[in-house]
Amino acid sequence: MQKRQSEDQIFGALLGIPNVHPLSVDEDETGLRVEVETTITEAVCPQCGQPAVATGRRAVELDSAKPFRGRPFHLTWQTRGWSCQNPACATGEFFEKADWQFSAG
Ligand SMILES: [Zn+2]
Repeated sequence: MQKRQSEDQIFGALLGIPNVHPLSVDEDETGLRVEVETTITEAVCPQCGQPAVATGRRAVELDSAKPFRGRPFHLTWQTRGWSCQNPACATGEFFEKADWQFSAG
């Protein structure tokens, strides 16, 4: 028996971007447009290691160097913002970073 995969795992494998959850997929004359968020729902401050509180979203637009099914491939990544709650820490707000390099193809 094969292990059952989640839709997020299947989506990530198809598009070559791991640990993301699709928000929307749209295809028009400019190519394929996919909007994603990461599956990460918790974060710690990169400086002090304290748990951070979610603050908001920031859209990051990425264009793939590699076409998808022969068409240009655009990714909108809704990054999560976080705020460090440690008063002794200088970090304040920060945005998540991905361990994948989408535009490098
Ligand atoms: Zn901190």
